[in-house]
Amino acid sequence: MPIKLDGRQLSLEIQERLKNDIHKGIKEGERPPSLAVIRVGDDPASGVYVKNKEKACERVGIKSLLFHLDNDVSNRDLEELLNKLNLNAEVDGILLQLPLPSQLDAQKLISKISPAKDVDGLHENNVGKLLKNESGLRSCTPAGIINLLNSQKITISGKQIVVIGRSLLVGKPIALMMVNLNGTVTITHSKTTNLKEISNKADILVVAAGKPNLIDSSFIKEGAVVIDVGIHRLKSSNNGTTQLCGDVKLEDVVSKVLAYTPVPGGVGPMTVTMLLVNTIYSWQKRCGLNSTLKDLLP
Ligand code: NAP
Repeated sequence: MPIKLDGRQLSLEIQERLKNDIHKGIKEGERPPSLAVIRVGDDPASGVYVKNKEKACERVGIKSLLFHLDNDVSNRDLEELLNKLNLNAEVDGILLQLPLPSQLDAQKLISKISPAKDVDGLHENNVGKLLKNESGLRSCTPAGIINLLNSQKITISGKQIVVIGRSLLVGKPIALMMVNLNGTVTITHSKTTNLKEISNKADILVVAAGKPNLIDSSFIKEGAVVIDVGIHRLKSSNNGTTQLCGDVKLEDVVSKVLAYTPVPGGVGPMTVTMLLVNTIYSWQKRCGLNSTLKDLLP
């Protein structure tokens, strides 16, 4: 039987640990951690993600502050809000929910977030720390993937890793994390000419292409570990119902793999949990508490 890398279960376990860490800090006389979440406009998917993050904060005891801005907000107004939050001593983390409307420059705005409060791990200082293999806030989805592998004692050192996708959000940071953990990493993208051949060499295949059902069993080496980052809502042509699927045709690959992540319930829940981990890591640092979460930040 292949191993299901169950992100829901692992998230529950990590969130229990986070709850205890917050209790301990509060017992030592500190205020609870707090996360500022900025949502721009009314994109329904962003609304769902923000709601999930708020609920997760509540579960572990993080205070969340929601700033819901109009779709036509200017770069300057958003920068002003970021500056205020950077200066607010009671805010430990700032999350700018992506994507942003077209008049806004996401990367420029992320650069305005204080690196110490950049709980999405996307500020260039934090990306630079990852590049240098120094400790710091880490990009949530890739850090969640490393924790899923660790939870089942799947080693990265010495393995052939293939990453499909080279985004700043997923592909590049997961590749860097795996190199830092002594994997031998190949990064592929839409211009890669022999994707199937390369994928077939992978002991661990990370698929973050954002293309539904791109990967079937012909891309997979027998006994590989397959991590599916993609998440898509597809409408059935029969009855019009929507179904979630990933970049991997799970039913086709499952009999061939050593381990896999389901969609939903694999990488997705871990992304939210790592946001909580980063927020509490930042809070502990800012309050002078002992850091208890380094093992979760690859
Ligand atoms: P992205 O910014 O669109 O990047 C996609 C990457 O995949 C690009 O580098 C692209 O290559 C490459 N690519 C596209 N088609 C390809 C193909 N046919 N063969 C090989 N490479 C291909 O997407 P992203 O932000 O990294 O996200 C990827 C997927 O993960 C999306 O479905 C997203 O919704 C999902 N996601 C899920 C979570 C979660 O928590 N579950 C978190 C983040 C993202 P080029 O660079 O050449 O264009």
